[in-house]
Amino acid sequence: MKQVVYFTNNSYMRYMMESTNPKQNLIGLNVPELQEALLSLNVPKYRVQQLYHWIYYHGVRDFGAMANLPKDLREALTAGFSLDRPTIKIPQVSLDGTQKWLLSLSDGNEVETVHIPEKTRGTLCVSSQVGCALSCKFCHTGTQTLVRNLTVAEIVGQFMVARDVFGEWPAPAGNRHVSNVVMMGMGEPLYNYDNVKKALTLIMDPQGLDLAPRRITLSTSGVVPHIVQCGNDLGVSLAISLHAVTNELRNVLVPINRKYPIDELLTACKNYPGTNKSNRVTFEYVMLKGINDSPAEARELIRLLKNIPSKINLIPFNPWPNAPFECSSSETIGVFSAILEKAGYASPVRRPRGQDIFAACGQLKSLSQRLRKSNEKSGTLIQKN
Ligand code: SAH
Ligand code: SF4
Repeated sequence: MKQVVYFTNNSYMRYMMESTNPKQNLIGLNVPELQEALLSLNVPKYRVQQLYHWIYYHGVRDFGAMANLPKDLREALTAGFSLDRPTIKIPQVSLDGTQKWLLSLSDGNEVETVHIPEKTRGTLCVSSQVGCALSCKFCHTGTQTLVRNLTVAEIVGQFMVARDVFGEWPAPAGNRHVSNVVMMGMGEPLYNYDNVKKALTLIMDPQGLDLAPRRITLSTSGVVPHIVQCGNDLGVSLAISLHAVTNELRNVLVPINRKYPIDELLTACKNYPGTNKSNRVTFEYVMLKGINDSPAEARELIRLLKNIPSKINLIPFNPWPNAPFECSSSETIGVFSAILEKAGYASPVRRPRGQDIFAACGQLKSLSQRLRKSNEKSGTLIQKN
C-alpha cells in the first residue's frame, strides 16, 4: 500500500528546509558537537571518536575512506554531511619560499593565510577575521572595515588546508612543514575570542591535529580583558603589538590604546599565565621612520619591559600603497636594536618574508583586492601554476 505522509505546517517547513539544505560541514566540531550533529543517526560515542580521528588525525576528506566505520554509516555521512575546508583561490609563492593562499569562504568572502618556511620549522600565519574593526595606522588590513568574524571551521580550516598542501596527514613526529602557528593574519584574534579558542583547542588536541601549545603564538593589539583569560584557557605564547612607548603616540598608532592604555596592557602581560624566562611575552615594535625609532624610545622600551620576561621583535615597516609612513633606515634600526641587545635582548630584528607577494605583516588581503582591480583592467594575475 502506498504510504501517505501528512505534514503539519511546522513539520512540512522543517522537511522542506532539511531536504533543500546543503550538507552540514563537520569541520570545526569537537567530539560532543559531532555527537550532537549526528543525533539523528544515533551513532555510539566510540564511533564518533573514530570519526573525529579520521577527520583531524588522518585529515581524510571522503567518508568512504573511513575504513573502520560501518558501510551504512559511511553512506549516511556521505549523504548528509561534508568535510569542507576553505578553497585556495589564488596560490602565490615568494622568491624566498613563503607561500600565500587567498582562500575563498563558503559565503564568497576571502581571507589570506601565509606559510613561512625556515630551516628547522614552518610557520603558518592564520587569519581570525575578514578585515579588522581596529584601524592601526600602519596596517593595511586596518584600512579595511570588519566584514565578519571567521567561524571555527574557517580558522581550523586554514590549518587543515596547509596540511593538505604539504600532505602532512597524519603529521610526522619529526620535522614538519607546518610546525608552528601564529595568529598574526587578518583581524584581531581577541575580538573573535570564542571561535579562536575553539579552533586552537582543536589544533592542540593530541588525539587530532596535535600541535603543542608552545608552538602557537597569539598576537593582539591589546584587548586587555581577554589576555589573561587566553593564557588560562589555552596556554599559548603571547605576542603584543606595542609599537610605541607613550600613550600619546600609541593612542594614534594603535587606537585601541585609548581604551586599554599601556600600563593596563603591561599589567595583563605581567600576569599572563605561564610566563617565565623560557616562555617570554613577545613585544612587536614596527619601525616607523621619524615616528617611534629614536634611541630614547629604545631606552624607554627597555624600562617599560623591565619586570616582564620578554622578547622584542623589531619589525621593519612593510609598505603599502599610499601608506602614511616610511620604514626606518637600516642604520636607525641598527642603533635601536644595538641598544636592546646591550640590555640583553637577543636578535631583535625580524627579517621580513614574502614581501614580493605582499605576504608580510600588515599587508594581507590588500594585494588581492588591488590585483583584482588591476586584473579587471588588464586580464592578468601573477600566480603559481
Ligand atoms: N591584530 C593582531 C594580529 C594581526 S597583525 C595584532 O595587531 O597584533 C600582526 C602583526 O603585524 C602585528 O604586530 C601588527 O602590528 C603588525 N603589522 C601590521 N601592519 C604592519 C606593517 N605594515 N608593517 C609591519 N608590521 C605590521
Ligand atoms: Fe587589526 Fe592588528 Fe592590523 Fe591593528 S595591526 S588593524 S589590530 S590586524
